[in-house]
Amino acid sequence: MSNHELEIVDVIKKIKDLKAEKVGLQFPEGLKVHAIKIARQIEEGTGVIVIISADPCYGACDVADVDMGDLVDVLVHFGHRPLPIDYDLPVIFVDARSNMDLLGCVKSSIRLLEGYEKIGLVTTIQHLHLVNEVADFIEQNGKEILMDKGSGTTKGQVLGCNFSAIKNLDADAFLYIGSGNFHPLGIKLFTDKTVIVADPYLGEARKIDEFANRILRIRSARIAKAMDAKRFGIIVSTKKGQSRLELAKNLKNILKDVDREGFILLLDDVSPDLLIPFMDLDAFVMTACPRIAIDDSEMYKKPLMTPQELEIAIGKRKWEDYEIDEIKYSG
Ligand code: SF4
Repeated sequence: MSNHELEIVDVIKKIKDLKAEKVGLQFPEGLKVHAIKIARQIEEGTGVIVIISADPCYGACDVADVDMGDLVDVLVHFGHRPLPIDYDLPVIFVDARSNMDLLGCVKSSIRLLEGYEKIGLVTTIQHLHLVNEVADFIEQNGKEILMDKGSGTTKGQVLGCNFSAIKNLDADAFLYIGSGNFHPLGIKLFTDKTVIVADPYLGEARKIDEFANRILRIRSARIAKAMDAKRFGIIVSTKKGQSRLELAKNLKNILKDVDREGFILLLDDVSPDLLIPFMDLDAFVMTACPRIAIDDSEMYKKPLMTPQELEIAIGKRKWEDYEIDEIKYSG
């Protein structure tokens, strides 16, 4: 049986154990294409009625327990592990393990790791079950592998907004196993060390440095544009895993201290269109997902910043002390 089939067999058993009659399913965007097939498997395997959450799901922070709390007995959430927060109903978390071979791209990374001895190894939950195999291979090539668990994350796992699993690693460089620039960019901004991506989907390895430098130039330009801003929108998320109202209130006070105005805006999904009615504000600060300001800023007409970037814009922090924003979880 494939990893996927094993996971569904396990889900069916857990649903039966819970004696659920109505079951919610939630998938991140990349896994939604499997939703119908999985819904059919679960309905046929258990006799329950399945309701699929078709809204966007952005991450572990965005579990649909509140939305589905009155509709289903249990929610099955694919692609993430639980954060240390309280959920409104029983949630079965499914890793959605990838069957992809990792060693091909990891072999390609060896030449890029030349000159680095201690390698911090990180990945996402989809590849975590194969990370020991990768660690053994890298060690056979003469490197020392460093891994740690974080607050709210498993050993070797990072989220786009939580790097606690690598913060205590004395690594010379980091090797990220997975696709895209999202997580490796975060690791680069968090550590300022060399980050190499071993991408099993493209079957290649690459450095993230050039991309990260381009992003930092964009961040610098956004901050510069916000330096003269007088009125700020401080965005707070209603999503349980992203909600940082206390931070927003602090930012409002900090702005008041420097004779600027801050207005707290509460949103579920943050999008440029939803900010259009607030164009009399000069700039926005994001206390919801920290990555929106960094990864999506080109979509926004007015400067959109992280809390740390706001501090730079109003002269409370130096550019040299730039830090990526994190959502810190205890547990
Ligand atoms: S807050 Fe953003 S980066 Fe963090 S888990 Fe949610 S979507 Fe991902």
